[in-house]
Amino acid sequence: MARSRLSAIVFQRCPVCLEGKAFRSFLGMHKDCPNCGVHFERESGYFLNAMFVAYVFGFVIFAPLALYLYFTGVPALPFSLIMVAVLLVSWPFIFRYSRIIWMHVDQMIDPREPPNQRGKIERRLYASAQYSGVKEGEKR
Ligand SMILES: [Zn+2]
Repeated sequence: MARSRLSAIVFQRCPVCLEGKAFRSFLGMHKDCPNCGVHFERESGYFLNAMFVAYVFGFVIFAPLALYLYFTGVPALPFSLIMVAVLLVSWPFIFRYSRIIWMHVDQMIDPREPPNQRGKIERRLYASAQYSGVKEGEKR
């Protein structure tokens, strides 16, 4: 069953085939999709745009927290410690999901085909042309 884009984002999968895992370790990304072979970093500086997603995450997480702590009268030192603790805990989440969301948004704006799939289709066409007796150079 084909995975949906939303599920691919939640489970941090490739934006092109929606199956291959994007991360190989806690913070380490695969250079290419292990399933379809697409190169994740489309051009140099590609992931700089993930910063904008990270800003949004940061704002959504930290602005309400800061307002809550402020209006409940938390003193400056615990306030700072709580903010730093939440930052440290949420940072890997923000890092991973900002990249994943950016890659999926980019794929929706400017779609790419999976390179392995393209190769498979070409090999299949070539094989079927050979099977049907058509030789190279005879094709119209
Ligand atoms: Zn893939």
